[in-house]
Amino acid sequence: MERHEWFGWERVQAPRATGDQLSRVHPPAHVEAIAQLSARGGGAIDMDTTAVAGTYEAALRAAGGAVALVDALLADGDPCGVSALRPPGHHAETARAMGFCFFNNVAVAAAHALAAHGAERVLILDWDVHHGNGTNDIFHADPSVLFCSIHESPLYPGTGPAQDAGSGPGEGFTVNMPVPGRSGDAVHGSLVEHVVAPLIRGWEPQLVLVSAGFDAHRADPLASCELSEAGFAGMTASLRRACADVGAPLGLVLEGGYSVEALAASMAAVVPVLGAESVPAAVDVPVHPLAAEAGERLAARWPDQFGTM
Ligand SMILES: [Zn+2]
Repeated sequence: MERHEWFGWERVQAPRATGDQLSRVHPPAHVEAIAQLSARGGGAIDMDTTAVAGTYEAALRAAGGAVALVDALLADGDPCGVSALRPPGHHAETARAMGFCFFNNVAVAAAHALAAHGAERVLILDWDVHHGNGTNDIFHADPSVLFCSIHESPLYPGTGPAQDAGSGPGEGFTVNMPVPGRSGDAVHGSLVEHVVAPLIRGWEPQLVLVSAGFDAHRADPLASCELSEAGFAGMTASLRRACADVGAPLGLVLEGGYSVEALAASMAAVVPVLGAESVPAAVDVPVHPLAAEAGERLAARWPDQFGTM
């Protein structure tokens, strides 16, 4: 990003999330537990997730940056933005850190959009290669957040079957799209263009957030999907076209991505598409069988979008 002079984007230091902002998702005892663990110098929470002395401060800013992104999009009128911070968030449950995640940044951001900005419909696309179990569960029964996830299966954390579609009033507002290992640009691109983009056009969210992990990249050591930088750029273009059609701002919140080179190259491919002055031209994206299957599952609730797929 530095080599590209950050594509001319304005860079802003992330503020700390406040207790009130975190408490919309996490009970104060969970926040306090992370604070105390860091104050003691850190320690292991589970096999993957270890806090160090700086974790609490970093996690506060990762959540606070996602909140600031929402403020920029919904209060300042910015059309797009990126919260490029770690630790990631989408595995964090309300009261449990896991999978390198301590606070659920994208969930705190979506909750902020609802509570502080009066948004009524927020769509989250989680394209991290792992299922965002935390975000999935936090909004499971909530019809104001439509959670869509494309994730490799089987893979950590093992959640997110297609049949998990939400519960109670949130039934139908969780759209899980597991894909097999070795899936690449064609599968992911088709699911975004032919499932997520129609949901954006049909539901007209006031905000679209992406849990943007880059660990579906072919060079990533933790998973076996085979996306390229161009694949991530293509998904971003699909989202931009759909967001432009409904006037929704589009924000990316960084999640995973464990090849530093692939992460850097993917960000450098995505950011110019996100920030381009004109909406990317429509391209012909073939309907992959997995996209057709997802459309069939969604057709009953969204007949206008998926009835004829
Ligand atoms: Zn991941």
